[in-house]
Amino acid sequence: MKPAPFEYHAPRTGEEAVAVLAEVAPRGGRVLAGGQSLVPAMALRLARPAHLVDINAVTGLDRLEVDAGELVVGACVRHAAFDRPVVDGPLGTLLAQVARHIAHWPIRTRGTFCGSIANADPASESCLVVATLGATAVARSVRGTRAIAGAEFFRGAMTTALAADELLVEVRVPLPAAGTRCGFAEYSRRAGDFAIAMALTTNRLRDGKIADARVGIGSVESAPRRIGEAEAVLNGKRPVDEAFRDAADAAARALLPVDDIRYPARYRRDVARAMVERALEAAAA
Ligand SMILES: Cc1cc2nc3c(=O)[nH]c(=O)nc-3n(C[C@H](O)[C@H](O)[C@H](O)COP(=O)(O)OP(=O)(O)OC[C@H]3O[C@@H](n4cnc5c(N)ncnc54)[C@H](O)[C@@H]3O)c2cc1C
Repeated sequence: MKPAPFEYHAPRTGEEAVAVLAEVAPRGGRVLAGGQSLVPAMALRLARPAHLVDINAVTGLDRLEVDAGELVVGACVRHAAFDRPVVDGPLGTLLAQVARHIAHWPIRTRGTFCGSIANADPASESCLVVATLGATAVARSVRGTRAIAGAEFFRGAMTTALAADELLVEVRVPLPAAGTRCGFAEYSRRAGDFAIAMALTTNRLRDGKIADARVGIGSVESAPRRIGEAEAVLNGKRPVDEAFRDAADAAARALLPVDDIRYPARYRRDVARAMVERALEAAAA
């Protein structure tokens, strides 16, 4: 199938982009970034935007740099940018590892990190990063600019706190403190497929015991989130297999997995438990 007819807009500046969005959003206007989710949906006529606001020529949206202790990822930064560490330390290594699980290389050269966040697919690796590491989304419209905490950004499957006329201009990911250990694990049936479950964890060691544990799970519920029950089990424990198993069990108990025709809730819960254990082992390795 071919997309339904639409009007195409190609603003050159941030001001122009938000002005066009303010005008067309109430009439079915959408932002076009990498097009790797929106264009297939349009081709299937699952999405029929009357206007597309292409942000690829907007100056300044390709920002990828450290600023005030945060990695700033602009709206036009592609997944492929993370193929090699973009910053020294654990965050660069983690993002490189995570990005390799996103689709396939050609898709990663077009699809954007921020597009994934705005799209809010529950199985998005980038969304799990934002939810677990406490990143901030920066949204701009003709009304001004506002920062939205990652934990409040995702409202459910494909649903976010962004208003229809807001442009997600950047995401700011805090650099983990020195000595932070990170682990990521995901399971999908074939390489490049969307995950059935994935887990991301960070922690530090204080006097040989786990501190500041974060455990995030994606692709299991309608949105990725941190699982406080698993973090509570880990903090203060020595980093040994038994603690990892107990934390994974606590995470599995706390989840309310999506139950669909492909994967029953019980299966997703079991896979999530295994991913938490693997991510914790990877962080400790
Ligand atoms: C075969 C295939 C496999 C894939 N596998 C994976 C996978 O395993 N993991 C994964 O995470 N993703 C996967 N993807 C999706 C891919 O990562 C996309 O890049 C991503 O979902 C969206 O980014 P995009 O830049 O292409 O956004 P687009 O497709 O351009 O836009 C997606 C949505 O977000 C909105 N949007 C985009 N940017 C902004 C912005 N700056 N401000 C406001 N709204 C915005 C658009 O209006 C649209 O509604 C896959 C895609 C394909 C085609």
